[in-house]
Amino acid sequence: MLNNVTLIRKKRDGEALTAHEIRHLIQEFTADRLPDYQMSALMMACFLNGLNPAETEAFTREMLHSGEVLNLADIPGIKVDKHSTGGVGDKLSLVLAPIVAAAGVPVPMISGRGLGHTGGTLDKLASIPGFQVDVSLDRYREILQRQNLVLVGQTEEIAPADKRLYALRDVTATVECIPLIAASIMSKKLAEGIDALVLDVKTGSGAFMKNTEDAKTLAKTLVNIGESFGKQTIAYITRMDEPLGRTIGNWLEVEESIDCLRGEGPEDVMEITHLLAGTMIYLGGKAANVQEGEDVSRQMVRSGKAFQKWVDIVREQGGDTSFVENPERMPAASFSLEVKSGDLADGAGASVLDVEHRISKRPELEGRAGKQMQDMFIRSMDGYSLGMASLELGAGRKAKEDTIDPLAGIRLHKKVGDSVRPGETVLTLYASAADADKMFRNALSWLRKGMELGRTPTSTQPNILMRIDRKGISTDFRGS
Ligand code: URA
Repeated sequence: MLNNVTLIRKKRDGEALTAHEIRHLIQEFTADRLPDYQMSALMMACFLNGLNPAETEAFTREMLHSGEVLNLADIPGIKVDKHSTGGVGDKLSLVLAPIVAAAGVPVPMISGRGLGHTGGTLDKLASIPGFQVDVSLDRYREILQRQNLVLVGQTEEIAPADKRLYALRDVTATVECIPLIAASIMSKKLAEGIDALVLDVKTGSGAFMKNTEDAKTLAKTLVNIGESFGKQTIAYITRMDEPLGRTIGNWLEVEESIDCLRGEGPEDVMEITHLLAGTMIYLGGKAANVQEGEDVSRQMVRSGKAFQKWVDIVREQGGDTSFVENPERMPAASFSLEVKSGDLADGAGASVLDVEHRISKRPELEGRAGKQMQDMFIRSMDGYSLGMASLELGAGRKAKEDTIDPLAGIRLHKKVGDSVRPGETVLTLYASAADADKMFRNALSWLRKGMELGRTPTSTQPNILMRIDRKGISTDFRGS
């Protein structure tokens, strides 16, 4: 007979738990026989002592089997999904899911809400008027069958142990543990009924993994779990130092993803989109290698098939397609604020963007004139600070129960490396709440911290750092 306290003590003292013991602990927790305080102690013991690969796999398996594991074998095709570890301005799922589905690969995608300073695909989808993200598992299956694509949120039936465990880790300072993060992510992905998975592991200031070594460890752990469950899994490590694309915020990002699907997307978004979509198309058996998959991906955009798939899925899930066909129909946020380049602190390199702000509808916030006399260059745009600024505007949640303003966010008129003329607008901020002026002030203080301008341009960094799969690490992304 297993004893909960004995097992917690075992992990506390640095010993590894067996698969049988982990099954007992998760089953007891799911059945409400192991209370939150004991599970919290166990999580802290895991956090401090780590988990070996066998323990990580056992946690994943037990969390996966705490709920329903979908079997989509009756739906033809190799089902492939993509998961991102979270970033700022990361609208890639909205662009690549219709591309891959249009290429003939079924995409069952269950997405999450925004977490901390990062955005979530679910919140972005919910900004489309009428779009239903909460559907039953029967309807999930039906949508996938009809459209080759389904875009929904996590249901109660999917990995319920992870849902409770994550909430507990969130309030016991035990989230930042790579094996627990990996088990949490993979238990949900494996429950979707996928055959293969592509992972976008972000690294940099706007990511949860701030350094590349941690991102590599997480990517390897995720790939090992996927492969041990018989799912071909390919991970890419991509840079998240500055926001992706030119928008941050839910509807703003949907609007930008429409531009992408119409062939007018920004280069950084499209480079990673085509690589991830190409990999999904390859794993789905519709291309001989990733490079060919990328060509198919570009062709889906050029031909208009990807955009048509987007319109079809919006209609299927109850959304008003007139907003995606004519995004200019969406009313703007109630208030906007143009942030202009202004004074710079002295000293090369360590400069700070001093904003001269002009408010379209809030003259009480009228700023002082900028002192910038000559062209400058954007040297950095810290992803974390810009994510926090968009949170201050109402585009994300500070507390779990907060409601999101779908129209709030930031438009980036400039990106790292761009030059800025004196008085030129760098960003536009959007907010709708009655206390928008306070929101703008709070956002501006993050932006002042996070933006750096200088008299010389900075060298640009590659967006995609490496690929990690069952064969190991490689910087040749396009092989098979
Ligand atoms: N995202 C998840 O789904 N789980 C974690 O533990 C962390 C991020």
